[in-house]
Amino acid sequence: MKILVLNGGSSSQKSCLYEIAGVTLPSCPPNPLWESVVDWTHHSGVAEIKITTAQGTVLKGEIPAKTQSEATAYTLNSLWQGKTKAIDQLSDIDVVGHRVVHGGSQYRESVIVTDEVKGAIADFARFAPLHNPINLAGIEAIEQALGNVPQVAVFDTAFHSQLPLAAAVYPGPYGWYEQGIQRYGFHGISHQYCAQRTAQLMGKSLEDLRLIVCHLGNGCSLSAIRNGRSIDTTMGFTPLEGLMMGTRSGSVDPGILIYLLRQEGYTPDQLEQILNQKSGLKGISGLSADMRQIIEAEAAGNPRAQLALNLFIHRLRSSIGAMLMSLDRLDALIFTAGIGENSALIRAAACEALEFLGIRLDRQKNENNPVDLDIAEAESAVRIFTIHTQEDWAIAQDCWRNLNS
Ligand code: AMP
Repeated sequence: MKILVLNGGSSSQKSCLYEIAGVTLPSCPPNPLWESVVDWTHHSGVAEIKITTAQGTVLKGEIPAKTQSEATAYTLNSLWQGKTKAIDQLSDIDVVGHRVVHGGSQYRESVIVTDEVKGAIADFARFAPLHNPINLAGIEAIEQALGNVPQVAVFDTAFHSQLPLAAAVYPGPYGWYEQGIQRYGFHGISHQYCAQRTAQLMGKSLEDLRLIVCHLGNGCSLSAIRNGRSIDTTMGFTPLEGLMMGTRSGSVDPGILIYLLRQEGYTPDQLEQILNQKSGLKGISGLSADMRQIIEAEAAGNPRAQLALNLFIHRLRSSIGAMLMSLDRLDALIFTAGIGENSALIRAAACEALEFLGIRLDRQKNENNPVDLDIAEAESAVRIFTIHTQEDWAIAQDCWRNLNS
């Protein structure tokens, strides 16, 4: 079965093609046959594109594309034509999977796309105005290019859709909850994938495990997982809540927003821009949203980089503590995404605060670029894993399951 995965964001789109040959899913994530990344942040009217095939062919360049549908059309052509050709014709694709950011509380798992599902994705755009319209445009672009090939929507909120009410409802007026203002949580595809992969590596059933997943990338969130379900998470109504991130503030006192609206005359758009783009590591350091540069500047003695790093670690530790309190036991602490997978320093800083619980990181394993590995000392009370998150492979697996169930 040939599965095309589209993972579209507000300024970039990743796509990849997987092939699942057997009658069961492979136990280890396979490499895709073909991958493409289109990024149209840099110059207006032009997108940067990079296509890689399993045979090692790499095509890099700029294409004239302003919109996602132009980028999708180019990407699809490169799939069956030219030097990055991976299939003979587009009709060789059996199913297309899409990462869809918001499925509200309605979608608890991935679904085959129908008119009703498209309507719901459009409806949830009021909660995710930057993402859901793009996801829907991706579905429609595929309809145009590939006719009625089955498409599967895999929701970033689905894994958190069964949060207990105490974790899902905000303590504002009850009417908020009735109108859909509640905690949804995000990065669910990654949290679920990392939990499943950890269970597999531990040789245990996910249903029997208590886990905390730390997804630390440009966006950061934690989840507490019990019996295979997310029972608490740090992101909320939007991906702004919770941990400090690259350019996002994470949780701040909502009184600050009232103060800025009233005393400083900020508009909602200005507030949105400050909280999403001018805060976090970048806002505090004044330097960069990239953790590598913050760590470098901190080592060189830059006081604002030092503060940014300390703030990030402080909030990470506090939130791990909060997730811990939702569980009655912890079997594994999992680090994933750009920072979680690559920064030995952040992993060590998080684990250091947990030593009093008998959680012990093996320093050598931690420093040795671990991928899908247990990096705890043998006698640690809790296992510690780094997992390479593979959202696209998780989406491909959901496509396969939807078509084979
Ligand atoms: P992601 O959103 O998962 O792609 O993660 C992107 C972030 O990972 C970047 O902004 C970097 O801050 C961070 N990152 C990548 N490599 C490293 C590294 N070696 N050390 C610290 N942070 C890293």
